Amino acid sequence: MPDWREDIGDALAGLKADVGLDVPLAGYTTFGIGGPADMLVTVHDRKALAGVLAACRESGVDWWVLGRGSNVLVSDSGLRGVVVMLGREFGYVKVEDSVLVAGAGAGLDDIAVAAEKAGLRGAEFLAGIPGTVGGGLRTNAGAFDRSLTDVLSKVRVLGRTGRTRTLKKGDFETGYRQPVVDDRLVVIEAELELEPGYPEPVETVRQKRWAKQPQDPSAGSFFRNPESEPAGSLIDKAGLKGFRVGKAQVSEKHANFIINTGGASFFDVYELAQVVKAKVEEMSGIELEEEVQVLPEPERAGGSQAPTRGKDKGQRNKD
Ligand SMILES: Cc1cc2nc3c(=O)[nH]c(=O)nc-3n(C[C@H](O)[C@H](O)[C@H](O)COP(=O)(O)OP(=O)(O)OC[C@H]3O[C@@H](n4cnc5c(N)ncnc54)[C@H](O)[C@@H]3O)c2cc1C
Repeated sequence: MPDWREDIGDALAGLKADVGLDVPLAGYTTFGIGGPADMLVTVHDRKALAGVLAACRESGVDWWVLGRGSNVLVSDSGLRGVVVMLGREFGYVKVEDSVLVAGAGAGLDDIAVAAEKAGLRGAEFLAGIPGTVGGGLRTNAGAFDRSLTDVLSKVRVLGRTGRTRTLKKGDFETGYRQPVVDDRLVVIEAELELEPGYPEPVETVRQKRWAKQPQDPSAGSFFRNPESEPAGSLIDKAGLKGFRVGKAQVSEKHANFIINTGGASFFDVYELAQVVKAKVEEMSGIELEEEVQVLPEPERAGGSQAPTRGKDKGQRNKD
């Protein structure tokens, strides 16, 4: 075992955290893709979260926070460092008057349900989105022309130094599918300002969504919608519906979904995404940008963690 894992294990002794070593991440992503994390730490309170971030800093180890893995494409080589997950203690949703407070691990769908129960409207667009509040704030999640920041009033975050801060409107970004807070901050809680009234029923919104989206493993819309035209429409016009690379395919049902048809590798999906980008650009001059987060991020790893085709192919051949 490399020393840093022992050091981090020691630093976490006595804290409310569960540690796993060499944990395959495929089971933690909706794509069903992803090699092992050197260390997976599930934290059960803020002190443990601050403790693991401090231990990573001390040991000079990379870390990532993972929600429900519904917006990530993880390398088949996995992640060298620590993956931090928030335990169910972070999954609370509380409503007082028209203010809804949710832990970062709460599901976006749970928020829509809680708001409906409390007779509040404004959060119904979150119904059926399979991720968490924390993950949602990484891309300002939304649907039906609404985004989280339309209703977000405060975000509580934990920084590198372990200090908790509350960001108010004006302190956070609100752009379409852009990070709401800096990506080196961990979101621990969000506060939404809703309105009294009857929302569109959660079940109706879920059905609307499921009627348009494939049920196969995916990470939702792969690309952000350019201003001029939805990405799905551009991909469809490029004749790419049903196009495959290995076991990855552009969904026949919704062209902005790349699906894992069974046993797809990281590179199947990644290369298919590159083909889609190239063909759409050739046809329309529009450069699509990924909405899905590719991990490890090439810019963060500085190349040392970059997935290499040979390595990943090797893993695929072993399957
Ligand atoms: C079938 C399907 C439908 C979808 N539909 C939609 C949709 O309609 N609209 C939409 O916007 N998205 C949609 N998505 C994408 C996804 O569900 C959302 O982006 C969701 O908010 C991601 O949350 P997560 O917990 O799964 O995040 P993850 O995928 O686990 O993580 C995503 C990013 O957020 C970061 N992150 C996670 N937790 C935290 C935290 N606590 N603090 C800081 N950073 C954090 C991660 O490091 C990563 O960079 C869909 C996905 C699927 C599979």
